[in-house]
Amino acid sequence: MRTTRRRILTAGLAAPVAACAHAPMTGESFDVVVVGAGVFGAWTAEHLRRRGRRVLLVDQAGAGHARASSGGESRLTRATYGADRIYSEMALASLPEWKALSHTASLPLFHQAGVLFCFSEMVEYARQSIEAHRSLGVPLEELDRAALARRWPQMASDDLAFALFEPDFGALMARRSVEEIVRYFVMQGGAYRIAHAQPGGEGRDVRLNGVALRAGAVVYACGPWLPKVFPELLGDRIFVTRQEVAFIAPPDENDRFEATSFPGWIDFNGGDVYYGFPNLEGRGFKIARDTHGAPFDPDTGDRRMSAEGVALLRAHLARRFPLLADRPFTEFRVCQYENSGNGDFLIDGCPGREGAFLLGGGSGHGFKHGPEVGRLMAALVLDGAAPDARFSYAAKGAVHRREVL
Ligand SMILES: Cc1cc2nc3c(=O)[nH]c(=O)nc-3n(C[C@H](O)[C@H](O)[C@H](O)COP(=O)(O)OP(=O)(O)OC[C@H]3O[C@@H](n4cnc5c(N)ncnc54)[C@H](O)[C@@H]3O)c2cc1C
Repeated sequence: MRTTRRRILTAGLAAPVAACAHAPMTGESFDVVVVGAGVFGAWTAEHLRRRGRRVLLVDQAGAGHARASSGGESRLTRATYGADRIYSEMALASLPEWKALSHTASLPLFHQAGVLFCFSEMVEYARQSIEAHRSLGVPLEELDRAALARRWPQMASDDLAFALFEPDFGALMARRSVEEIVRYFVMQGGAYRIAHAQPGGEGRDVRLNGVALRAGAVVYACGPWLPKVFPELLGDRIFVTRQEVAFIAPPDENDRFEATSFPGWIDFNGGDVYYGFPNLEGRGFKIARDTHGAPFDPDTGDRRMSAEGVALLRAHLARRFPLLADRPFTEFRVCQYENSGNGDFLIDGCPGREGAFLLGGGSGHGFKHGPEVGRLMAALVLDGAAPDARFSYAAKGAVHRREVL
């Protein structure tokens, strides 16, 4: 096993990802070009490759780069989605893919820390999640306030009514995961280039750094850049919002905030939703506010943390994690959500451009679903199999009213 893994790793390192990345594209032909090496594009390219197609994956700046939505440190994976069972099923279908990739990667991609959902009262979302987990046969523990306080005394739970705990899920190391998918894709024969892509004259035409290329199909998985690539189609259908994230140093003298002792968490405390992670791999205890921020430009937006954001996170730490209230912040990040009107993904053909496809609308919850989203997109491209109507372009509204949580 050890030898096999070393051989795979060596092959991975030797795979000329960087070297070939800027190579010219002349004289090559591809069945499918996938534009965007975020989590959606990378998994789509990999699924297309698995189905025997010659695939070119292109990104303007690199897999999981600093400004990409997939470029963060960590992302929660969970099957808890209230009444939106379709996402529970997609998260469940994606988890074995993540685990398999994590198993062969040189460093872990998935930490099975579990995910804790805190509620100040019994709400429909919690009831529906319990029901969905029962019918899907997915473990979900219900804890009352006393049980919660016993199990995780490092969290203040006096104002909570109860919690749900999903033990099978946890944290994905986001940027590393995307790099790993691309590395694997290249190792298996997929082509990967750094280039800026623009739609060409017809649906199957794409211009890469100005050079025209015709493929069998082109998938645009451009995340928060989709409205720039297709302003007329998506300028008022994808709402890009500024999201602030902070990491905080846990107390030195104990390990109560490590992934072995504390889960990923989402706090539905009746007001704003906050979420975070234990101290994964020493990066710091992560905390963020899930409320959609101001409109944001992924190219020019200011990625410095706001004073208001710091104050809100400090206040939530003081309320929920008193041991962390005065600990120093170790890092801030500003990323963006690329929201569809209601939070449903976009997986569809591109209206008016035969052979071109649109993929995006991750809406702050897309990462975990990457493997299944990629499989669905590949099935649409290769078999014409349309996924659920919720993922269609026609279902994307021009009003920003979040429904999927
Ligand atoms: C702060 C934050 C927290 C989140 N938390 C979670 C979570 O806990 N769980 C979860 O499941 N999800 C979470 N998400 C959502 C998730 O990260 C996103 O939905 C997902 O990463 C979107 O992936 P993507 O591939 O669509 O976009 P991206 O990762 O942005 O990838 C798009 C890529 O397209 C490339 N591109 C764009 N235009 C062009 C062009 N013209 N030519 C070439 N390349 C181009 C870009 O360079 C980029 O690399 C979170 C997001 C944020 C910001």
